[in-house]
Amino acid sequence: MDIQALPKISLHDHLDGGLRPQTIIELAAKIGHELPKSNAEELATWFIDSCNSGSLVRYLETFEHTVAVMQTKVGLERVAYEAVIDLAKENVIYAELRWAPEQHLAGGLSLDDTVTAVQDGLERGMADVEAKGGFIRTGQLIIAMRHTDRAMEIAHLAIKHRNDGVVGFDIAGEEAGFLPSLHKDAFDYLAKELFPVTVHAGEADGIESIRDAIYSGRALRLGHGVRLVEDIMFSRSEGDTDLVVLGEVAQWVHDRGITLEVSPSSNLQTGAFFMLGDTMADHPFDALYDLGFKVTVNTDNRLMSGTSLTRELEILVDTFGYDLGDLEQFQLNAAEAAFQGLTEREELMDMIEMGFAEAQVAQ
Ligand SMILES: [Zn+2]
Repeated sequence: MDIQALPKISLHDHLDGGLRPQTIIELAAKIGHELPKSNAEELATWFIDSCNSGSLVRYLETFEHTVAVMQTKVGLERVAYEAVIDLAKENVIYAELRWAPEQHLAGGLSLDDTVTAVQDGLERGMADVEAKGGFIRTGQLIIAMRHTDRAMEIAHLAIKHRNDGVVGFDIAGEEAGFLPSLHKDAFDYLAKELFPVTVHAGEADGIESIRDAIYSGRALRLGHGVRLVEDIMFSRSEGDTDLVVLGEVAQWVHDRGITLEVSPSSNLQTGAFFMLGDTMADHPFDALYDLGFKVTVNTDNRLMSGTSLTRELEILVDTFGYDLGDLEQFQLNAAEAAFQGLTEREELMDMIEMGFAEAQVAQ
């Protein structure tokens, strides 16, 4: 299977987690920011090693360096531009890139400046890809940090730019102890404005966090959501038949088709499914897929996990033996859940179906 050639959709990809190592070095030199390594290869390894600790808190520490070089218009524009080019190279046809504008004000930019700089980069990237005969569409997902109290301001920022590139809203950062209800006003405002929301939930905290993402956040999708398994009882009692009992929250997510933005490598690195084990084979992805949850495959942080969407799919194929039909289903789930209009989503689905049909013939 040539997974790289297949049309793909990336819903959960952090802009500040996907920089090219060489770009970090060049941008850091310009602003005099000190890095732990000065050569691109060693720096790439440093990021991956730092993130293999199994702790979300340590994982988030690596962002100090990437965020540091994204404090100017030039830095933000370049990182956004290169993200589009890199994604298009592996045939991602639609990508939502998320990031937190409030973390990019140290160089004197305003919140509006940061969003515009990123949009400039995304548009230059899309134009470049198109000029070379390729295709990629992108959207910005604006994040408010859970531990600060700027969510309302960031929600206003997202709404202000909804007609120039911002497609959705998210909250991120430390999940445990920072429930979405802390930012209830912002979520109420976004709901009133009928603006799409996804919430990181069920990654570093359990069921109550997921419940609150749905209730207080009105999340249409869940960032990871892998700890939903804590609300699912698997047993093997009646002969060979697996008995599965879904708890209230899992049942709701299942029945309403709330999309899960799963990121296999990142989930393994942050210990999101520690209760099941510490190898990829223990990831609940396959169980959730089997039960009919709307699973999608994502990278989370391409730099920190040393990965790509192609690689994440390859890992799943190697671990769970998926075929083309399975991979197509994951892409269709993602297209269906994209924060785009119905017409645009149908176009993406058509492109996916065509691309996979061609791959099927070639096989
Ligand atoms: Zn994330």
